[in-house]
Amino acid sequence: MKKIYLDHNATTPAHPEVVEAMLPYYHTYYGNASSIHCFGRDARKAMDDARDKIADLIGADPQEIVFTGGGTEADNFALKGVAWATEKEGNHIISSAIEHPAILNSCQYLEKRGFEVTYLPVDKYGLIDPLQVKEAITDKTIIISIMLANNEVGTIEPIAEIAEIARERGVYLHTDAIQAFGKIPINVTELKADLLSLSGHKINGPKGIGALYIRKGIRITSFLHGGHHERNRRAGTENVPALVGLGKAAELGACRIEEKTRRLTELRDRLHKGIMDMIDHVHLNGHPTLRLPNTLNLSFAFVEGESLLLNLDLKGIAASTGSACTSGTLDPSHVLMAMGIDPVLAQGSLRFSLGPDNTQEEIDTTVECLVEIVERLRMLSPLYSEKTAN
Ligand SMILES: *Cc1c(COP(=O)(O)O)cnc(C)c1O
Repeated sequence: MKKIYLDHNATTPAHPEVVEAMLPYYHTYYGNASSIHCFGRDARKAMDDARDKIADLIGADPQEIVFTGGGTEADNFALKGVAWATEKEGNHIISSAIEHPAILNSCQYLEKRGFEVTYLPVDKYGLIDPLQVKEAITDKTIIISIMLANNEVGTIEPIAEIAEIARERGVYLHTDAIQAFGKIPINVTELKADLLSLSGHKINGPKGIGALYIRKGIRITSFLHGGHHERNRRAGTENVPALVGLGKAAELGACRIEEKTRRLTELRDRLHKGIMDMIDHVHLNGHPTLRLPNTLNLSFAFVEGESLLLNLDLKGIAASTGSACTSGTLDPSHVLMAMGIDPVLAQGSLRFSLGPDNTQEEIDTTVECLVEIVERLRMLSPLYSEKTAN
């Protein structure tokens, strides 16, 4: 059975060129980037190149990029680092109800330690209203953290507008750009972001490596203490192979981004149309247009998302309910709840997230399988027979 992977927002396969770029840094250039001999210099050079590439891609200065052990660490660093560095000025944080757990749980941790967090609501498309951000700011607000694109429904938030408001009030703006990176162009000057999180494994790079962009002059406290790595901002011997992989993945991801966006959008819309044409009672979650090109989140009435997922898996098709980080719980997705989706309908949701290797044939096979599975499951559903009898 040929497997079909439609879960790229959970993670992606490393690109062969990424792996190829990484390998020499395990066996030939294995030096410690802090050593001054030639082994160390080779590693340092590779690290500088990777940093330059990432900085270049997002319009930053290389000194503003700090490598981290993944996206979760970048998010934690941004929130806790700024909270601790500026706590004398205020203890108020603004975030949203639809953030990734890396942000939400960092906020909750800070709430237990005397910080106050406002979780902004979203509309039915998952959009945050910049006016509400403006109204939520107080004299005590130190940082606003709103994601650039949501991982579950793909909605793209108006970060530049929100950042403008933050800047006027002298509040830092952090954005979790982990899902947006490689899917839509990102420029920190246009976004006016002060801090921005990235992760390798969502963009065909390695797992366990990420980066935090920290605009020059931003006050932030380190939370890993040790050697003087990353200009004293993140101690620990740098993971040179992984950061070389991240640099390569970012470079490959950015090249021909418009063409890739067009292709992904076409495939995603083919999947959407195929499903809508063949299956009744299906609802789109997320914004119709302000959405990542690869993401399609649908609610199938009268079925359980979990059953859909398992049945698709039996056919070798990998999708997701909610996000990988929240699956395993049977609670409906916090993102769909915040969007005001009916909880029962939310339980019937599936996220398809496409990648550059997916084909039209795979999309058509997925539609065929879904039609058969949804029909079979609905036949077993008492709610469905009631509905269709009416
Ligand atoms: C995946 C993801 C993260 C976590 O990144 P890791 O590298 O897996 O730790 C954070 N935020 C968003 C929006 C994500 O999609």
